[in-house]
Amino acid sequence: MVYKITNECIRCNLCQSACPVGAIKIVDNRPWIDPEICNNCFNSIYTVPQCKASCPTSNGCVKVTNDYWENWFNTYNRLIAKLTKKSDYWDNWYNFYSQKFSEQLQKHQQQMA
Ligand code: SF4
Ligand code: SF4
Repeated sequence: MVYKITNECIRCNLCQSACPVGAIKIVDNRPWIDPEICNNCFNSIYTVPQCKASCPTSNGCVKVTNDYWENWFNTYNRLIAKLTKKSDYWDNWYNFYSQKFSEQLQKHQQQMA
């Protein structure tokens, strides 16, 4: 399973600076996730994939898998969310914000120790 950047990307490059392993590169003026480097943010301090969490669009960065039905349901859910105008923008924003807040808190606690 990896994440990929879609045509809905608005090229804000937030995901590039958020990726903890530097897997997001600019290719032909567009961000691209190198599947050889992306580790899905496993074994890191992050509880959610940072590219997806930092993306201000609903579908600029999406999960892809080799499982046909999982892909099918992911696409289905995205289309339904679009049709009902439901957006996970604020969920993403909150996840990103709380992640950054806990990083700053950890840094502060280390400095105070
Ligand atoms: S899932 Fe994590 S490691 Fe992979 S591209 Fe996104 S931020 Fe980088
Ligand atoms: S954060 Fe989303 S919109 Fe911004 S560059 Fe990355 S994929 Fe594109």
